[in-house]
Amino acid sequence: MFLYSGVIIDFVPKMDEELLFRYLFIAIYAAFFGVRIRYRIESTRREPEKRHQLYFMATKILIVAILGYIASIILYMLSSPWTTWSQIALPTWLRWLGVTGATSSILLVAWIHRELGRQYSAELAIQKEHALVTTGPYARTRHPMYTTLNMFSFSMALTTSNLLVLLFAALVIVPFPWIARKEEEMLLETFGEDYREYMRRTGRFFPKMGQRPS
Ligand code: SAH
Repeated sequence: MFLYSGVIIDFVPKMDEELLFRYLFIAIYAAFFGVRIRYRIESTRREPEKRHQLYFMATKILIVAILGYIASIILYMLSSPWTTWSQIALPTWLRWLGVTGATSSILLVAWIHRELGRQYSAELAIQKEHALVTTGPYARTRHPMYTTLNMFSFSMALTTSNLLVLLFAALVIVPFPWIARKEEEMLLETFGEDYREYMRRTGRFFPKMGQRPS
């Protein structure tokens, strides 16, 4: 800034804040897909030993929430005149908190994928020679990936400062306790006492503190 004859002149033209968050949104999503795509492709090449069905209700809510989330992001990106009402004025620091949360989630997801390895699948499934992972992010938490994916989509919603995106990001969270419960039933059936013991010393979505991971 430069003070000249009482007039404040900006040397650097101020970039439209809204535009800056849109660019960040695109860049962060691209990085997120960059990290995930390899693991997703690898997982589709594996033929699991056993597939498990999700609860019907959980599947329905998840589909509605994800489709709603994608549609509201598209409307946000297009600055659709139908949804201008949904653009709310979140404080800028909260939007930056979203950027930070989303970027941290990408690093966490990369770590989680590395640790879960070939056990990962987009559906509930037991792979051939499936090993129980209890190390790294899995040492204290049973579902670190679900927690981190939700943290990512909610952080991205904060970045948009868009009410529709925020509401659908919140709805995406709803079916995860059901999904986790079903997944735990499947893992209990497969690993028996080992998984039961693992459940005792871990938290479902957040680390269980005060216990020494083994
Ligand atoms: N719910 C986990 C994993 C998501 S990927 C998380 O949020 O981190 C889904 C697959 O991971 C499931 O099909 C299941 O077979 C596998 N899985 C989940 N927890 C596991 C564990 N501790 N060890 C090995 N495989 C696991």
